[in-house]
Amino acid sequence: MVNGHARRILVTGAGGFIGHHLVTHLKSMGFWVRGADLHEPEYEPSQADEFIIADLRLFEECQKSVVGINDVYQLAADMGGIGYITANHAALTRNNTLINTHMPEAARLAGVQRYLYTSSACVYPGFLQESPDVTPLREDQAIPADPEKGYGWEKLFAEQLLTYYHEEFDLDIRIVRFHNIYGPLGTYEGGKEKAPAAICRKVSEAVDGTSIEVWGDGEQTRSFCHVDDCIEGLFRLMESGYTAPLNLGTDELVTVNELVDLACRASGKRLGKNHDLTKPQGVRGRNSDNSLLRSVLAWEPSVTLEDGLTRTYDWIWSQLDHQGRAESSAVQAAD
Ligand code: NAD
Repeated sequence: MVNGHARRILVTGAGGFIGHHLVTHLKSMGFWVRGADLHEPEYEPSQADEFIIADLRLFEECQKSVVGINDVYQLAADMGGIGYITANHAALTRNNTLINTHMPEAARLAGVQRYLYTSSACVYPGFLQESPDVTPLREDQAIPADPEKGYGWEKLFAEQLLTYYHEEFDLDIRIVRFHNIYGPLGTYEGGKEKAPAAICRKVSEAVDGTSIEVWGDGEQTRSFCHVDDCIEGLFRLMESGYTAPLNLGTDELVTVNELVDLACRASGKRLGKNHDLTKPQGVRGRNSDNSLLRSVLAWEPSVTLEDGLTRTYDWIWSQLDHQGRAESSAVQAAD
């Protein structure tokens, strides 16, 4: 029993963006936590009681990671931004299929009680996301299926597989569909970064009065959810007893151009946009319908995009500043 919390928790993908934040949160609540990943977190040490380096594509490594565990949060995945997931369909689908077939079986055999799987809004059909003023997506609209090629198909398959484990083996499951999670301590370069981090990096490095590259025409729309809300939602979902898929995101829809404008406001710089129409931009519009989230969790995300993006910008700017790569705004430079 640790500070009143007897449950032992495994966070897979604990070296990654959301997994690392989740470990920090669970530790602050007094839980005993094991992290598992191919690598340790990049930007600060993990607070996990145990951190094991494990390749969860391998069944034996999954078995090692679940020994003595009550609750699993399964966040390990080969993933990245739109450039990465559209260029690596075969490897990414194979890697994630291996992880998500071996992990539930290892958990079942080890007597794990609760198993939360992190799915994605990429499971929703492309034919519902062809317009920038998209109707928010409800959980019951994932099937008939037409998900994102590769990454989305695997997520949908893993949701189905886990549901069979619930139906046939009584595994107490949770399935969350994230909608664009962003925040500090996330990858911001190298090809695996997502749009908010990539934009904050480009704005940080840009000289005031110049322009940055924007993928597509910038009129594609998305909603973005700050990682603090994501972690709160994950914990609430685990405690809820709800076993069907649930959206976790905001319904504050913005264009990518507006996202760039918000990053510019955070930076104090005036920057133009060079739209590169040859780059992938994903579906035309995507938003989260939060009706079910509100009714199941009696809660929904509350960090505004302006506030959350400012905090993310400040963190990325300071990272780049340490490397001598950040540019101040003209006003800051004159101070
Ligand atoms: P991330 O890439 O930062 O973290 C994923 C972690 O999984 C990485 O640290 C990676 O090393 C680890 N991993 C990959 N292959 C592994 C393997 N074979 N064995 C062990 N570990 C392995 O991504 P994230 O943003 O923290 O995402 C966490 C989860 O949420 C993923 O399942 C992802 O698909 C899902 N998701 C995230 C978002 C988002 O906006 N960030 C949106 C939808 C879904």
